[in-house]
Amino acid sequence: MTVAPLDRVAGRALGGERLDRETGRWLLTEAPLLEVGRLASAARFARIPERRVTFVVDSNPNYTNVCITDCQFCAFYRRPGHPEAWTLSVDEVLEKIASAAARGATTVLLQGGHNPSLPLDYYLTIVRETRRRFPQVAAHFFTASEIHTMAAVSGLAVGDVLDRLWEAGQRTLPGGGAEILSKRVRTRIAPKKGGPETWLQVHREAHRRGFRSTATMMYGHVEQVDDLLDHLDAVRDLQDEHGGFTAFVPWSFKPGNTLLEKWIKHYQGPSAYLRMLAVARLYLDNVPHVQASWFSEGKPTGQVALHFGADDWGGTLFEENVHRAADYVNTVTVEEIVALIRETGFTPARRTTTYEILETY
Ligand code: SF4
Repeated sequence: MTVAPLDRVAGRALGGERLDRETGRWLLTEAPLLEVGRLASAARFARIPERRVTFVVDSNPNYTNVCITDCQFCAFYRRPGHPEAWTLSVDEVLEKIASAAARGATTVLLQGGHNPSLPLDYYLTIVRETRRRFPQVAAHFFTASEIHTMAAVSGLAVGDVLDRLWEAGQRTLPGGGAEILSKRVRTRIAPKKGGPETWLQVHREAHRRGFRSTATMMYGHVEQVDDLLDHLDAVRDLQDEHGGFTAFVPWSFKPGNTLLEKWIKHYQGPSAYLRMLAVARLYLDNVPHVQASWFSEGKPTGQVALHFGADDWGGTLFEENVHRAADYVNTVTVEEIVALIRETGFTPARRTTTYEILETY
Protein backbone atom coordinates (compact mmCIF):
# COMPACT_ATOMS: atom_id res chain seq x y z
CA MET A 1 0.00 0.00 0.00
CA THR A 2 1.40 3.42 -0.90
CA VAL A 3 0.96 6.19 1.61
CA ALA A 4 -0.01 9.65 0.30
CA PRO A 5 2.87 12.14 0.72
CA LEU A 6 0.87 14.30 3.11
CA ASP A 7 0.10 11.41 5.44
CA ARG A 8 3.76 10.44 5.33
CA VAL A 9 4.85 13.97 6.21
CA ALA A 10 2.24 14.17 8.97
CA GLY A 11 3.46 10.87 10.40
CA ARG A 12 7.03 12.08 10.43
CA ALA A 13 6.51 15.65 11.56
CA LEU A 14 4.11 14.77 14.36
CA GLY A 15 5.95 11.57 15.25
CA GLY A 16 9.11 13.47 16.08
CA GLU A 17 11.02 12.39 12.99
CA ARG A 18 13.16 15.03 11.30
CA LEU A 19 12.03 16.16 7.85
CA ASP A 20 14.59 15.69 5.09
CA ARG A 21 15.43 18.11 2.33
CA GLU A 22 13.28 16.44 -0.30
CA THR A 23 10.24 16.63 1.95
CA GLY A 24 11.04 20.28 2.63
CA ARG A 25 11.22 20.90 -1.11
CA TRP A 26 7.83 19.25 -1.64
CA LEU A 27 6.27 21.29 1.16
CA LEU A 28 7.68 24.51 -0.27
CA THR A 29 6.63 23.85 -3.85
CA GLU A 30 3.79 21.37 -4.31
CA ALA A 31 2.00 20.46 -1.11
CA PRO A 32 -1.55 21.88 -0.77
CA LEU A 33 -1.22 25.14 1.15
CA LEU A 34 -4.04 24.67 3.63
CA GLU A 35 -2.85 21.15 4.45
CA VAL A 36 0.66 22.47 5.13
CA GLY A 37 -0.91 25.03 7.45
CA ARG A 38 -2.96 22.38 9.22
CA LEU A 39 0.14 20.25 9.82
CA ALA A 40 2.15 23.24 11.01
CA SER A 41 -0.61 24.17 13.42
CA ALA A 42 -0.62 20.60 14.77
CA ALA A 43 3.17 20.77 15.20
CA ARG A 44 2.78 24.09 17.05
CA PHE A 45 0.25 22.62 19.50
CA ALA A 46 2.41 19.51 19.96
CA ARG A 47 5.20 21.83 21.16
CA ILE A 48 3.10 24.51 22.89
CA PRO A 49 -0.25 22.99 23.93
CA GLU A 50 -1.68 26.20 25.44
CA ARG A 51 -3.95 28.32 23.22
CA ARG A 52 -1.70 31.24 24.00
CA VAL A 53 -0.11 33.72 21.62
CA THR A 54 2.67 35.88 22.99
CA PHE A 55 3.82 39.38 22.06
CA VAL A 56 6.47 41.77 23.31
CA VAL A 57 6.33 45.52 23.94
CA ASP A 58 9.33 46.77 22.03
CA SER A 59 10.88 49.44 19.86
CA ASN A 60 13.45 49.31 17.03
CA PRO A 61 15.43 52.54 17.00
CA ASN A 62 18.64 52.99 15.00
CA TYR A 63 21.90 54.67 16.01
CA THR A 64 23.33 55.43 12.54
CA ASN A 65 22.39 55.11 8.90
CA VAL A 66 26.04 55.37 7.83
CA CYS A 67 27.14 52.16 6.17
CA ILE A 68 29.90 50.99 3.86
CA THR A 69 28.37 47.62 2.94
CA ASP A 70 26.03 48.63 0.06
CA CYS A 71 23.49 45.80 0.33
CA GLN A 72 21.34 45.73 -2.80
CA PHE A 73 18.12 45.30 -0.81
CA CYS A 74 18.66 48.21 1.60
CA ALA A 75 16.92 51.58 1.32
CA PHE A 76 18.01 52.70 4.79
CA TYR A 77 21.75 53.35 4.59
CA ARG A 78 23.80 56.29 3.33
CA ARG A 79 27.50 56.25 2.51
CA PRO A 80 29.84 58.21 4.86
CA GLY A 81 29.78 61.91 3.96
CA HIS A 82 26.37 61.73 2.25
CA PRO A 83 24.21 64.79 3.06
CA GLU A 84 21.51 62.53 4.54
CA ALA A 85 23.95 60.48 6.65
CA TRP A 86 23.45 60.69 10.43
CA THR A 87 24.85 59.14 13.60
CA LEU A 88 23.37 59.59 17.07
CA SER A 89 25.49 60.35 20.10
CA VAL A 90 25.36 57.94 23.05
CA ASP A 91 23.06 60.38 24.86
CA GLU A 92 20.72 60.62 21.89
CA VAL A 93 20.48 56.82 21.71
CA LEU A 94 19.74 56.69 25.44
CA GLU A 95 16.98 59.27 24.96
CA LYS A 96 15.34 56.93 22.45
CA ILE A 97 15.62 54.06 24.91
CA ALA A 98 14.18 56.27 27.67
CA SER A 99 11.23 57.12 25.46
CA ALA A 100 10.61 53.41 24.65
CA ALA A 101 10.89 52.55 28.37
CA ALA A 102 8.39 55.30 29.23
CA ARG A 103 5.89 53.63 26.87
CA GLY A 104 6.36 50.30 28.64
CA ALA A 105 8.90 48.63 26.35
CA THR A 106 10.73 45.66 27.87
CA THR A 107 12.80 45.05 24.72
CA VAL A 108 14.72 47.53 22.62
CA LEU A 109 16.12 46.16 19.37
CA LEU A 110 18.88 48.61 18.47
CA GLN A 111 20.64 48.28 15.13
CA GLY A 112 22.46 50.43 12.63
CA GLY A 113 24.69 50.57 9.59
CA HIS A 114 28.34 49.55 9.47
CA ASN A 115 29.89 52.84 10.47
CA PRO A 116 33.68 52.48 10.64
CA SER A 117 34.10 55.70 12.64
CA LEU A 118 32.38 54.33 15.77
CA PRO A 119 34.72 52.85 18.39
CA LEU A 120 33.83 49.75 20.42
CA ASP A 121 33.41 51.91 23.49
CA TYR A 122 30.41 53.66 21.86
CA TYR A 123 28.49 50.37 21.75
CA LEU A 124 29.63 49.19 25.18
CA THR A 125 28.59 52.46 26.80
CA ILE A 126 25.13 52.23 25.24
CA VAL A 127 24.70 48.69 26.60
CA ARG A 128 26.05 49.52 30.06
CA GLU A 129 23.99 52.70 30.44
CA THR A 130 20.83 51.03 29.15
CA ARG A 131 21.16 48.29 31.74
CA ARG A 132 21.98 50.78 34.50
CA ARG A 133 19.26 53.33 33.77
CA PHE A 134 16.50 51.02 32.46
CA PRO A 135 16.98 47.62 34.12
CA GLN A 136 13.50 46.56 32.97
CA VAL A 137 14.59 46.90 29.32
CA ALA A 138 16.46 44.04 27.63
CA ALA A 139 19.31 45.32 25.49
CA HIS A 140 18.49 43.32 22.36
CA PHE A 141 21.19 45.08 20.37
CA PHE A 142 23.37 44.67 17.25
CA THR A 143 23.04 42.11 14.48
CA ALA A 144 25.81 39.70 13.50
CA SER A 145 27.30 41.93 10.83
CA GLU A 146 27.45 44.90 13.22
CA ILE A 147 29.39 42.71 15.62
CA HIS A 148 31.78 41.85 12.78
CA THR A 149 32.18 45.58 12.18
CA MET A 150 32.98 46.16 15.88
CA ALA A 151 35.59 43.39 15.65
CA ALA A 152 37.13 44.83 12.48
CA VAL A 153 37.27 48.39 13.88
CA SER A 154 38.58 47.38 17.33
CA GLY A 155 41.00 44.70 16.12
CA LEU A 156 39.44 42.20 18.52
CA ALA A 157 38.13 38.75 17.62
CA VAL A 158 34.34 38.33 17.33
CA GLY A 159 34.36 36.22 20.51
CA ASP A 160 36.17 38.97 22.41
CA VAL A 161 33.63 41.57 21.26
CA LEU A 162 30.83 39.29 22.47
CA ASP A 163 32.62 38.88 25.82
CA ARG A 164 32.75 42.66 26.22
CA LEU A 165 29.07 43.04 25.34
CA TRP A 166 28.24 40.33 27.87
CA GLU A 167 30.30 42.09 30.56
CA ALA A 168 28.41 45.31 29.75
CA GLY A 169 25.10 43.51 30.44
CA GLN A 170 23.84 42.30 27.07
CA ARG A 171 22.24 38.82 26.96
CA THR A 172 20.43 38.56 23.62
CA LEU A 173 21.12 39.36 19.97
CA PRO A 174 18.63 40.09 17.18
CA GLY A 175 18.81 37.73 14.21
CA GLY A 176 18.68 40.37 11.47
CA GLY A 177 21.10 40.30 8.59
CA ALA A 178 20.68 36.60 7.83
CA GLU A 179 18.71 37.42 4.66
CA ILE A 180 19.04 34.01 2.96
CA LEU A 181 21.85 31.83 4.33
CA SER A 182 23.02 30.67 0.93
CA LYS A 183 26.34 31.65 -0.59
CA ARG A 184 24.77 32.22 -4.01
CA VAL A 185 22.14 34.65 -2.70
CA ARG A 186 24.40 36.56 -0.36
CA THR A 187 26.99 37.01 -3.10
CA ARG A 188 24.25 38.47 -5.32
CA ILE A 189 22.45 40.79 -2.87
CA ALA A 190 25.04 41.61 -0.20
CA PRO A 191 28.49 40.79 -1.59
CA LYS A 192 30.35 42.81 1.06
CA LYS A 193 28.57 41.14 3.97
CA GLY A 194 30.28 37.75 3.72
CA GLY A 195 28.79 34.31 3.14
CA PRO A 196 26.37 32.45 5.42
CA GLU A 197 29.20 31.47 7.76
CA THR A 198 29.74 35.14 8.70
CA TRP A 199 26.26 35.32 10.26
CA LEU A 200 26.38 31.79 11.62
CA GLN A 201 29.76 32.31 13.29
CA VAL A 202 28.52 35.22 15.41
CA HIS A 203 25.42 33.32 16.55
CA ARG A 204 27.47 30.18 17.25
CA GLU A 205 29.98 32.14 19.34
CA ALA A 206 27.15 33.97 21.08
CA HIS A 207 25.24 30.78 21.92
CA ARG A 208 28.44 29.22 23.29
CA ARG A 209 28.68 32.13 25.71
CA GLY A 210 25.06 31.87 26.85
CA PHE A 211 23.50 34.58 24.68
CA ARG A 212 20.10 33.77 23.18
CA SER A 213 19.21 35.05 19.73
CA THR A 214 16.58 34.85 17.01
CA ALA A 215 17.01 33.52 13.49
CA THR A 216 15.45 35.58 10.71
CA MET A 217 14.85 35.09 7.00
CA MET A 218 14.15 37.73 4.37
CA TYR A 219 12.85 35.97 1.27
CA GLY A 220 11.12 37.04 -1.93
CA HIS A 221 13.99 38.41 -4.04
CA VAL A 222 16.54 36.35 -5.98
CA GLU A 223 16.43 33.08 -4.03
CA GLN A 224 15.38 29.68 -5.34
CA VAL A 225 13.96 26.75 -3.41
CA ASP A 226 17.40 25.26 -2.75
CA ASP A 227 18.49 28.54 -1.16
CA LEU A 228 15.50 28.45 1.19
CA LEU A 229 16.38 24.88 2.13
CA ASP A 230 20.03 25.86 2.68
CA HIS A 231 18.78 28.52 5.08
CA LEU A 232 16.51 26.19 7.03
CA ASP A 233 19.25 23.52 7.19
CA ALA A 234 21.80 26.05 8.46
CA VAL A 235 19.48 27.28 11.24
CA ARG A 236 18.48 23.75 12.26
CA ASP A 237 22.10 22.52 12.30
CA LEU A 238 23.29 25.43 14.40
CA GLN A 239 20.38 24.98 16.79
CA ASP A 240 21.46 21.36 17.27
CA GLU A 241 24.82 22.62 18.57
CA HIS A 242 23.76 24.88 21.46
CA GLY A 243 19.99 25.44 21.34
CA GLY A 244 20.47 29.21 21.50
CA PHE A 245 17.75 30.34 19.09
CA THR A 246 14.54 31.38 20.78
CA ALA A 247 12.51 31.92 17.61
CA PHE A 248 12.43 31.90 13.84
CA VAL A 249 11.16 35.07 12.15
CA PRO A 250 10.60 35.10 8.39
CA TRP A 251 9.44 38.15 6.40
CA SER A 252 9.13 39.13 2.76
CA PHE A 253 11.47 41.57 1.03
CA LYS A 254 10.20 45.13 0.55
CA PRO A 255 11.74 46.40 -2.70
CA GLY A 256 10.85 50.15 -2.52
CA ASN A 257 13.84 52.50 -3.06
CA THR A 258 16.40 49.66 -3.20
CA LEU A 259 18.92 48.70 -5.88
CA LEU A 260 17.16 45.32 -6.18
CA GLU A 261 13.81 46.94 -6.95
CA LYS A 262 14.12 46.68 -10.72
CA TRP A 263 14.91 42.95 -10.57
CA ILE A 264 11.85 41.95 -8.61
CA LYS A 265 9.17 40.89 -11.05
CA HIS A 266 6.48 39.57 -8.73
CA TYR A 267 5.61 40.53 -5.18
CA GLN A 268 5.17 37.31 -3.24
CA GLY A 269 1.90 37.74 -1.39
CA PRO A 270 0.32 36.28 1.72
CA SER A 271 0.11 32.69 0.47
CA ALA A 272 3.88 32.54 -0.11
CA TYR A 273 4.41 33.97 3.38
CA LEU A 274 2.04 31.52 5.05
CA ARG A 275 3.67 28.58 3.27
CA MET A 276 7.15 29.76 4.29
CA LEU A 277 6.07 30.17 7.89
CA ALA A 278 4.32 26.78 8.06
CA VAL A 279 7.24 24.93 6.46
CA ALA A 280 9.59 26.62 8.92
CA ARG A 281 7.49 25.35 11.85
CA LEU A 282 7.60 21.81 10.46
CA TYR A 283 11.24 21.77 9.33
CA LEU A 284 12.78 23.60 12.31
CA ASP A 285 11.79 20.95 14.82
CA ASN A 286 14.31 22.24 17.36
CA VAL A 287 13.37 25.97 17.40
CA PRO A 288 10.76 26.64 20.09
CA HIS A 289 8.93 29.66 18.71
CA VAL A 290 7.84 30.91 15.31
CA GLN A 291 6.93 34.56 14.99
CA ALA A 292 4.11 35.96 12.84
CA SER A 293 5.20 39.17 11.19
CA TRP A 294 2.13 41.42 11.37
CA PHE A 295 4.44 44.33 10.67
CA SER A 296 5.80 43.25 7.32
CA GLU A 297 2.89 41.11 6.10
CA GLY A 298 -0.10 43.07 7.44
CA LYS A 299 -2.36 42.41 10.40
CA PRO A 300 -4.90 40.11 8.68
CA THR A 301 -2.07 37.88 7.40
CA GLY A 302 -0.54 37.98 10.87
CA GLN A 303 -3.82 36.66 12.26
CA VAL A 304 -3.99 33.83 9.72
CA ALA A 305 -0.34 33.02 10.48
CA LEU A 306 -1.42 32.05 14.00
CA HIS A 307 -3.23 29.13 12.36
CA PHE A 308 -0.19 28.29 10.21
CA GLY A 309 2.21 27.40 13.01
CA ALA A 310 3.11 30.78 14.53
CA ASP A 311 2.76 31.08 18.32
CA ASP A 312 4.05 34.64 18.68
CA TRP A 313 2.76 37.96 17.33
CA GLY A 314 6.11 39.78 17.45
CA GLY A 315 6.38 43.24 18.95
CA THR A 316 4.72 46.63 19.10
CA LEU A 317 7.63 48.22 17.19
CA PHE A 318 7.03 51.72 18.56
CA GLU A 319 9.82 52.97 16.28
CA GLU A 320 10.93 51.42 12.99
CA ASN A 321 12.99 53.08 10.26
CA VAL A 322 14.37 50.35 7.98
CA HIS A 323 11.11 49.33 6.27
CA ARG A 324 9.97 52.95 6.44
CA ALA A 325 12.93 53.85 4.18
CA ALA A 326 11.41 51.46 1.62
CA ASP A 327 8.08 53.39 1.92
CA TYR A 328 6.54 50.61 4.01
CA VAL A 329 4.84 51.76 7.21
CA ASN A 330 2.60 49.86 9.67
CA THR A 331 1.72 50.61 13.29
CA VAL A 332 -0.14 48.93 16.14
CA THR A 333 -1.00 49.50 19.82
CA VAL A 334 -1.01 46.99 22.68
CA GLU A 335 -4.82 47.19 22.85
CA GLU A 336 -5.06 46.41 19.15
CA ILE A 337 -2.66 43.45 19.45
CA VAL A 338 -4.75 42.03 22.30
CA ALA A 339 -7.94 42.41 20.24
CA LEU A 340 -6.37 40.92 17.08
CA ILE A 341 -5.05 37.87 18.94
CA ARG A 342 -8.35 37.33 20.76
CA GLU A 343 -10.23 37.58 17.47
CA THR A 344 -8.28 34.57 16.16
CA GLY A 345 -9.33 32.45 19.15
CA PHE A 346 -6.13 32.68 21.20
CA THR A 347 -5.27 34.13 24.59
CA PRO A 348 -2.86 37.09 24.34
CA ALA A 349 0.15 37.09 26.67
CA ARG A 350 2.85 39.72 27.02
CA ARG A 351 6.34 38.22 27.16
CA THR A 352 9.99 39.12 27.70
CA THR A 353 12.67 39.05 24.99
CA THR A 354 13.36 35.42 25.94
CA TYR A 355 9.69 34.37 26.00
CA GLU A 356 8.93 34.32 29.73
CA ILE A 357 5.27 35.25 30.26
CA LEU A 358 4.75 38.60 32.02
CA GLU A 359 1.01 39.05 31.83
CA THR A 360 -1.96 37.23 30.31
CA TYR A 361 -4.95 39.21 29.00
S1 SF4 B 1 21.34 46.16 5.32
FE1 SF4 B 1 22.66 46.89 6.97
S2 SF4 B 1 24.69 46.33 6.27
FE2 SF4 B 1 23.39 46.28 4.44
S3 SF4 B 1 23.57 48.35 3.55
FE3 SF4 B 1 21.78 48.35 4.91
S4 SF4 B 1 22.56 49.15 6.84
FE4 SF4 B 1 24.32 48.45 5.64
